[in-house]
Amino acid sequence: MRRRPVVYALLLALGISGCSKPRPDIDAARITRTVQTLAGDDFEGRAPATAGERKTVDYLIAQLKDAGLQPGGDPRPDGSRAWTQDLPLVRSQITGPMTFDVHYGGDTAHWTQGGEVTLRAMQTGASQLKLVNAPLVFIGYGVNAPERNWDDFNGIDLKGKVALVLVNDPDFEAGAGDFGGRAMTYYGRWTYKYEELARRGAAGALVIHETEPASYGWETVRNSNGGPLFDVQREDPLAEHVPLEGWIQRDAAALLLQKAGVNLPQLKSQAATREFRPVPLKGVTLDVVFNVERQQVVSKNVIGVLPGTSHADEWLLYTAHWDHFGIGKPDADGDAIFNGAVDNAAGMAEVLEIARAFERAPRTQRSLGFVFVGAEEQGLLGSEYYATHPLYPLARTVADLNIDSPRPTGPARDFTTSGDAPVTLQDALIEVGRQLNRYHSPDARPQAGLFYRSDHFSFAKRGVPAISFKSGDDLLEGGPAAGKAWMEAYDRDRYHQPSDEFDPAVWRSDGIAADAALLYALGRRLADSREWPQWKAGSEFKAIRDASSAERR
Ligand SMILES: [Zn+2]
Repeated sequence: MRRRPVVYALLLALGISGCSKPRPDIDAARITRTVQTLAGDDFEGRAPATAGERKTVDYLIAQLKDAGLQPGGDPRPDGSRAWTQDLPLVRSQITGPMTFDVHYGGDTAHWTQGGEVTLRAMQTGASQLKLVNAPLVFIGYGVNAPERNWDDFNGIDLKGKVALVLVNDPDFEAGAGDFGGRAMTYYGRWTYKYEELARRGAAGALVIHETEPASYGWETVRNSNGGPLFDVQREDPLAEHVPLEGWIQRDAAALLLQKAGVNLPQLKSQAATREFRPVPLKGVTLDVVFNVERQQVVSKNVIGVLPGTSHADEWLLYTAHWDHFGIGKPDADGDAIFNGAVDNAAGMAEVLEIARAFERAPRTQRSLGFVFVGAEEQGLLGSEYYATHPLYPLARTVADLNIDSPRPTGPARDFTTSGDAPVTLQDALIEVGRQLNRYHSPDARPQAGLFYRSDHFSFAKRGVPAISFKSGDDLLEGGPAAGKAWMEAYDRDRYHQPSDEFDPAVWRSDGIAADAALLYALGRRLADSREWPQWKAGSEFKAIRDASSAERR
């Protein structure tokens, strides 16, 4: 039996009662119960293609059915839809010995995996990588940004060559310039460097690791790149992946450049200017040989929809990833289950609650999709697959509102987003927040490029206005000091560890419920209007969105 939940009292506390619009039905207690369930040990940490996945997907489908939504996944032959979208993944892992030999001036140096370099398992579909005497080229930051009149390539042919590329944006060191200064644009992300070099047909791409511009140490590079990697199954993997993808330690790169008679600090300052031209490393070549083992698995995205009344072919999406790390290495307490209570059982619970609130309210003009994506922790793959195999046209997708890791700390006066992208969707969020007496705090670490590290980005990359909502620090109880202290303790003691667990003694869902009310209000505004959020001038995603503007009336 379905019971109506008690209308959430906090909305009154936050002064929302004066609002003339109907209050959403948000039930904090149900959010808590959902988190407790999804973060239970019996869900086994929700890893892709495991028994934990089966349980999670079944639970989400049951919740969506109970909430009165319709299935919005893969079309079936009879015209109906499944609750899920198949998410075909390929797992690749380097096996056996690896050769990485550097030749210069008659000498050969033998380098090792995790030592001087960390090579990623090849994701091109081939089972062996073999480069013999491959030439190297330093390409600065490897950026081609026509809207900024910036081109590091200058027409160079990279076929058969291995590119050495700097991480972050050309203006990172100066702290000000054409790429947002310390804030990172997509051109600064290592993923962009590999993608751009794949488009140019390079044989290899080695990103030079420096701790500050990367925003993390070599240890992180080694841990997150050296092991098995997942990708979505692609029709043309070579269009997305360079055969040799890897990172190189700063000092190892400096040595290669020195053997070619050039110098890294000097090249770096040249690379910070528009006048930079690629620099071939004369007399230095590489032999690289290793084998890769591949395995195909099928995971799932889960999708429930509420069709719109008058513009049903226009879509507003809410997304939250369902996956986490499964069962791994035990921690000091012997706990091996990565429960992912905050990351992202809480995000699923919040999206489910928003879906229920919409179902109980009058239907919106535009359609709503609630998408629980898989394989986020493996590199935003569920959202990448959806965005490359959209179930509803991206050109008429109004926006994606993503939720990852909401905080169980109690309500905050503020809220934030993962990176402050120049998109009017962010302005709309801030306006709606203001109406609910909430204020926006800018991203505190713009240099970390957080905008490019959450599922909304898979949509942004294809031009769909998208943001990832984050809880604020300025707690009603304890202010910013309490919020920051919670975040620091979470990052240190629980983030991506088995200790990210549901603890009934300290868990609070009232702040998550207040955030759900805010995201509901934003969705209501977007789904009941003719508003099409836009990327602003200078955004790296504006051109791709503008290309489909004829499809938006
Ligand atoms: Zn997450």
